[in-house]
Amino acid sequence: MGTMVCSMAPAGGKRFSRKLLASSGSTRPRFPEVDDVSETLDLPFPPGRAKIRRNARSTRLTLRIRHDTGEISVTAPPRVRPQEIAAFIHGHSHWIGARMAKLPDLIVPEPGSVLTLLGETVTLAEGARLRRIGDRLELPGQGARFRGALAGFVRVSARTALSEASDRYSHQIGRQHGGITLRDTRSRWGSCSSTGKLMYSWRLALAPPKVLDYVAAHEVSHLAEMNHGPKFWKLVESLCPKYRVHRGWLRDHGAELHRVQFSE
Ligand SMILES: [Zn+2]
Repeated sequence: MGTMVCSMAPAGGKRFSRKLLASSGSTRPRFPEVDDVSETLDLPFPPGRAKIRRNARSTRLTLRIRHDTGEISVTAPPRVRPQEIAAFIHGHSHWIGARMAKLPDLIVPEPGSVLTLLGETVTLAEGARLRRIGDRLELPGQGARFRGALAGFVRVSARTALSEASDRYSHQIGRQHGGITLRDTRSRWGSCSSTGKLMYSWRLALAPPKVLDYVAAHEVSHLAEMNHGPKFWKLVESLCPKYRVHRGWLRDHGAELHRVQFSE
């Protein structure tokens, strides 16, 4: 396993944090000091549940709302009591409500759904087998099986485009990459390991092709520059002159790529 030299993070969920008072916790019952022990907290308002993640290193409460599912989570230092966390969440209910109202709707693909795939609009239809006829994409099965077949098709499309772009950019800078892996990861669009292995999110097939190209140019540039310094960005620019536009697109619209729900 090589060290990760890059993790292109999608625009993260909106967060809000508050520094805890220095005295907080001193007279409180102790919680075990373990990282990331997950608890859940039932919420009266907004109704639902919040995920609590205990982190021994955190010094403050941090509230996050996942931009695709609307899941609320709070990172908390080990000793903060659940009541205090609940009060913290309640204190931000106005903010939470405003964020929730802006969450994009999830798209559950079904026959008749329209998707953009590698920049081309396709209309999904039920068929006996996987078949693309012009802008019509026929997929077998129903429900989860239909969506699974679609996910497979999106992955294959992503692999073709990302392999082509990675090979092309690698050739341009005279370096060889160590192979491509595709994942459906929420934490990053792409990464390059110190051994030159490239990883991409296959949801990039749902983005404009130039954005997909930019992510490939970005990761391939790490084969020469294992950092995000000025020389790195110069190299990215030489491969992808309008990279700022595409990076901006990912920041502003990246979350939309996670709206499409392929599995339960
Ligand atoms: Zn990077």
